[in-house]
Amino acid sequence: MNVLVVNAGSSSLKYQLLNTDTREVFAKGNCERIGIDGSFIGHEENGVKDKLEVELPDHRTAIKHVFDILKTVDAPIEGIGHRVVQGGWYFPESAVVTDETLGWVREVAPLAPLHNYAEADVIEICREMFPELGNVIVPDTAFHYNMPEKAWRYAIPRDVVDKYHVRKYGAHGTSHRFIWRTVHEMMGDKTHKLVSCHLGSGASLCAIEDGKCMDTTMGLTPLDGLIMGTRCGTVDPATVFYLNRVAGMSIDDIDTMMNKQSGLLAVSAKSSDSRDIEEGANSGDANCQMAMDMFYYRTSQLFAEMAASMEGVDTMAFTAGIGENSVTMRAGVAERLKWMGVEIDPELNKIRSDEPRVISTPDSAITVLVVPTNEELMIALDVEELLGK
Ligand code: AMP
Repeated sequence: MNVLVVNAGSSSLKYQLLNTDTREVFAKGNCERIGIDGSFIGHEENGVKDKLEVELPDHRTAIKHVFDILKTVDAPIEGIGHRVVQGGWYFPESAVVTDETLGWVREVAPLAPLHNYAEADVIEICREMFPELGNVIVPDTAFHYNMPEKAWRYAIPRDVVDKYHVRKYGAHGTSHRFIWRTVHEMMGDKTHKLVSCHLGSGASLCAIEDGKCMDTTMGLTPLDGLIMGTRCGTVDPATVFYLNRVAGMSIDDIDTMMNKQSGLLAVSAKSSDSRDIEEGANSGDANCQMAMDMFYYRTSQLFAEMAASMEGVDTMAFTAGIGENSVTMRAGVAERLKWMGVEIDPELNKIRSDEPRVISTPDSAITVLVVPTNEELMIALDVEELLGK
C-alpha cells in the first residue's frame, strides 16, 4: 500500500510517501515557515534534493503543494497517516479519522497546543480535499496509554487528576513501538524486558515488557525526564513557583526557558547539538564536558529506573539521532551501567550502519543494540492495518 505520512507542526509540515510492502520511500520533504515570510518546500526524490520557493500562507496551501508535487511520482496515494503528538485520554491505539476521532484530537489539544491544533486542521483539510482517501490518526502517546496505573498516576489529588486529566502520557510512542518490533524480530524469545532509549534532540526511555509499555520517562508533556537538546527534563516542580515568585518570571517565560533555552544548550553554553558539544569537550571546554557528563548521568540513572519498573532488563536499544550516531555518547552511557553488567564491545560500537545491530560483548548481562528508528514506516503500517490494502 502506498501511504502518505504527514507530520504537521505549527509552522511546518513534513511528509513522506512510502510503500508498506517494499518499504521503498518514493519521496519525502518538509514545508517550512508556513505562515511566515521566506517559506519553502525542501523536497527529496530519488536521492535528489530540491528547494522549492513557494508561498505557504497556511497549511491548506502547503498540503495542496505537496499533493501537486507527488502527482508526478509513480505511486498513487492510497491512504494518509497523520502523526498526532498528543492523543490524551482517548487513544489507546491508532484510529481511522471520523468526526468523532478528529474531535478528540481537538479536545485534548490544550495538552499540546503547538501541535494538536495544526494536526487537526491538516486532517480536516485532507478529508475535505481528498474525500476518496482514508485518513488514520497515529498518536505518539498511544503506546503508553495502558501502562500500569502506578506508573501513570501522579500523587496529586484524585479530583484534579480526574477533572484535568493530569497523568503521565509519555511521547515517542511510535518510535518505541517500532524499536520493540524490530528488536523482537532480531532477538525472538531472548528479549522480554527491553529499555528503548530514544536519544535525539527530544529524548525518552521506555520500559517495554513483552511488547507492553510499563513506564516511560516523559510525563504529562515531553518536557519531563532526560536532559534534551533544549529541554531541561526533570527538575523539582517547585522551581516554577520559585522563579515566578522570586525572580518575577511569568509562567510563559519559564515555559520558554525550560523548553527552548535549557538542556544541553544551557549546560554547554554552546549548542544543543551533541556533535558541537563533543567537539567542544574534545578541545577542553569544561561546560561541554559537564553537559556530556550530565547526559550520561541522567540517562544511566533513568535507565535503572526503567529497569526497576520491570524488575529486570535483558535488552537495551539505542535509537534516534544521538543513539544511532554518537559512538561517544553510547559509550558514555554504557560505561555508567557497567555495575548492572552492561558491557559494550568498542569495535562493534564504532561500526556505522543503517541496519539494526548488536554492540555488546557475548558476556554482557544485558544485550545492547543500535536500532535505527522509522516512525514513518510504523505510521504507514498502522494505516495499512486499519484501512486494508
Ligand atoms: P533527532 O532529533 O533524532 O533528529 O536527533 C538530533 C540530534 O542527533 C542532534 O541534535 C545531534 O545532536 C544528534 N546527531 C545527529 N547525527 C549525529 C552524528 N552523526 N553524531 C553525533 N550526533 C548526531
